[in-house]
Amino acid sequence: MGVVRTRIAPSPTGFLHIGTARTALFNYIFTKKYQGQFVLRIEDTDIERSDEKFEMDIIEGLKWLGLNWDEGPEIGGDYAPYRQSERNYTYAKYTQKLLDENKAYYCFCSQEELEAQRADLISEGLAPIYSGKCRNLSKEEIAEKLNGNNKYIIRFKMPGKKIFFDDMIRGNLEFDTELVGDFAIAKNIGIPLYNFAVVVDDFEMKITHIIRGEDHISNTPKQIALCEALDFPILQYAHLPLILGHDRSKMSKRDGATSIIEYKKQGFLPEAMINFMALLGWNPGTNKEIFSIKELEKEFSMERIQKSGAIFNIQKLESINAHYIKKMTLEKLADLCAPYFKKAGYKTNDEKLKKIIKLEQERIKKISDILEIAKFFFEPSDYLAEILIWKKSNKEKALATLKDVLKNFESVADNNFNIQNLKPILDILTEKHNGAGEVFWPLRVALSSQESSPPPLEIAEILDKKETLKRIKIAIDKLMQI
Ligand code: GLU
Repeated sequence: MGVVRTRIAPSPTGFLHIGTARTALFNYIFTKKYQGQFVLRIEDTDIERSDEKFEMDIIEGLKWLGLNWDEGPEIGGDYAPYRQSERNYTYAKYTQKLLDENKAYYCFCSQEELEAQRADLISEGLAPIYSGKCRNLSKEEIAEKLNGNNKYIIRFKMPGKKIFFDDMIRGNLEFDTELVGDFAIAKNIGIPLYNFAVVVDDFEMKITHIIRGEDHISNTPKQIALCEALDFPILQYAHLPLILGHDRSKMSKRDGATSIIEYKKQGFLPEAMINFMALLGWNPGTNKEIFSIKELEKEFSMERIQKSGAIFNIQKLESINAHYIKKMTLEKLADLCAPYFKKAGYKTNDEKLKKIIKLEQERIKKISDILEIAKFFFEPSDYLAEILIWKKSNKEKALATLKDVLKNFESVADNNFNIQNLKPILDILTEKHNGAGEVFWPLRVALSSQESSPPPLEIAEILDKKETLKRIKIAIDKLMQI
């Protein structure tokens, strides 16, 4: 393969969502695999709907995912500028060329006229294509209308023929352009519309492969026809399967159709997002599920991309995320968790934080879970006294052991209150009260206010002596009231 040049071309009319992020990822890994160049182009031709805040969100999201580009708006490159709103002079040149060669024409039809025509065609069950009314206006008629300041757009003369292309994912495709008609390519000489701007930019930026969502497949024949009219080479296309919600319908907010930065806020890791997104449509052909981006660069192949829609499964994302969290170093995980504690107003320090994280690492699916999981270290919640009683025991035994634990713990000096010194005490009490369950269960619940939690001595050491004794006393009071 020659030099590979790809692009991600988001329109800043919304936040970076999973569909565009996955398209960026597939472009990125394909490009890396062939040591090519990956371009970021901001497609802001729709001035009314484009917003700088969306552009910033898109850039932040792509950077967070680590999908770095070789050329783009801020970093520049040989084919700058990379923002369409700054490239009007380029489009003007090609619009003029098409007009001069009679491959495009001015259309003065009013919006109302066009809409009425559309409605008529649809009601007759026909394709709602443009009538061609302005296709053959004479030079004089055009000049007169332009002089009269009549509103216009520029339309491309769609050749009435079939267009074929070989999609890298979907194979040979055929489109009948009779069903497309003469479509609008520009609002005026320098203000292009999407299909035209894309074709011009992909050519000017020497793009070789267009990898994008299947929702663009119907644009492809229009773009190929434009390429032919402008004598541009026809590029390689790959249309990725759509991402569908859990019930195979269009992705909704509930299925995760939200900004990528939102996933970051919820505590998903970029490496997990990358891994998860790679599996949205690509199948490695083995049972392997965990892929680093470097592995993807090596193992990815277009042939293994499915044609059918890819179902978005949030549980899968969570389980992949949990996998990466389990593998993370304590230091890094503590750093990621710290802001959540801070925001909740829980005071902690490095040492305490690491101890908590070490105990809970296995249970965290996403970083934000840490608050719910570890809340009890900072504030006990209310619980039913009954849960203090181990299933093979009774209230009297639970009370007796807790009182015994309290008495023994009270005698440990503050600065000796750690697992090492507490363990022998619990060993003796276990012996005395006939089994670990009799001692560990009520103590664990007393300290954590919940039935499932890490072992009691680990919790006690983190809580410190004062808080441990306080919680045991509360548990004793609770038991005495039932
Ligand atoms: N700007 C288009 C979009 O955001 C992408 C265009 C393309 O990839 O050709 O959907």
